[in-house]
Amino acid sequence: MRISYSSLENFKQCPLKYKFSQIDKIKEPKSKEAVFGTYIHKVLKWFYQKDPCFPTLDVLLDYYKDHWLKKSEGFEWENPDEENSYFKEGLRILEGYYKENMPQKTSVLDLETKFEVTLDENPEKQDGKHILTGVIDRIDKLPDGTIEIIDYKTGKRVASQKDVDSNDQLSLYAIGLKNRWPRIKTENLFLSLYFLKFNEKIKTQRTEQDLEKSKEKIIKLVHQIEKSSFEPRPSALCGWCGYRNICPVWKHLYKKETENNINEIDIKNKIDEYFELKEKKEKLEEELKNLESLIDVYCQQKGLKRVFGENGYFSRTTYSKVSYNIKKVKAVLEPLNKWEEILGIDSKKLNKVLKEIPQELRDKIKEAEKVEKEYKYLSANNKSKKEIEEEWE
Ligand code: SF4
Repeated sequence: MRISYSSLENFKQCPLKYKFSQIDKIKEPKSKEAVFGTYIHKVLKWFYQKDPCFPTLDVLLDYYKDHWLKKSEGFEWENPDEENSYFKEGLRILEGYYKENMPQKTSVLDLETKFEVTLDENPEKQDGKHILTGVIDRIDKLPDGTIEIIDYKTGKRVASQKDVDSNDQLSLYAIGLKNRWPRIKTENLFLSLYFLKFNEKIKTQRTEQDLEKSKEKIIKLVHQIEKSSFEPRPSALCGWCGYRNICPVWKHLYKKETENNINEIDIKNKIDEYFELKEKKEKLEEELKNLESLIDVYCQQKGLKRVFGENGYFSRTTYSKVSYNIKKVKAVLEPLNKWEEILGIDSKKLNKVLKEIPQELRDKIKEAEKVEKEYKYLSANNKSKKEIEEEWE
């Protein structure tokens, strides 16, 4: 299998997203954030291509303005305000970047370097061979002779130092670079993520063992892809997914109500009818509760266990909630081999434990999992289409 790191990230986010892009080869329409990010990358590449005669800040900003996105094919802004806000954000990023990074001190070795990593877990088995591909934004030679790999990020949040220290993408870049330039020693290699919106660079390093571990993790992920049934995994990240209009989780939201499409209009009416009835049910339930508490108070005041109307009656019963001393219960049930029966695997507790243990152990438990039966159920959520779209903005 030949796969890029971004595809692996897609799979981790949602197996169906991976399938749309890698297997079905459906081109994902890019979000504005992604198009803007690619443009900033392009401007910085142009800037560093001028090494060692770096342009001044004004020249850099002129290049940015002259090649601004409206000229690119197939991309349109929704309205002038939106365009203006992205345009200004780009200017802000580049000005801040220029001031923070003295370009004359930079010695660029390569830009947008393509690399391949062979994840060869079994060299004798041809189909056990997987090739991972990627592109490194920039490689610099630092004044002390060490090397720095820099990856630009245009996202809305800065990762923590801990996240950067364990970032598999950077490990992969290190492996890829060492494959290309085998004389580079791991200890002389720095790996950085540059968060452009915040003008903040976070630097890290790896050991040989770290690289080996990342490689193993990636191989495991590739094996998961091979066995996957590519089920959709809806999450908050769906808001940035370009496949929403064909994804079974969301595509109904995008269906057009045409006159010919009678069934479609029917189902939408039924859904609205459902929520109207639900609202009525909630009101009725509240009224019933009020009546119940009135009857309860009456029973209590009169010392009655039952009260009767023409169409039915109410009984007032007292229940006790009990708890057990686990040790004592265990001592009784264990000799009878009955303890295991009630112990079982409590999936609620297991899910809680799964959140607390490391990924490797989670993977082991996942391997021990067996799907015995699948239940399908409908759940209703009264969030409107407008509210969903507002969340994605
Ligand atoms: S919209 Fe969400 S669930 Fe559907 S493919 Fe994209 S990420 Fe997966």
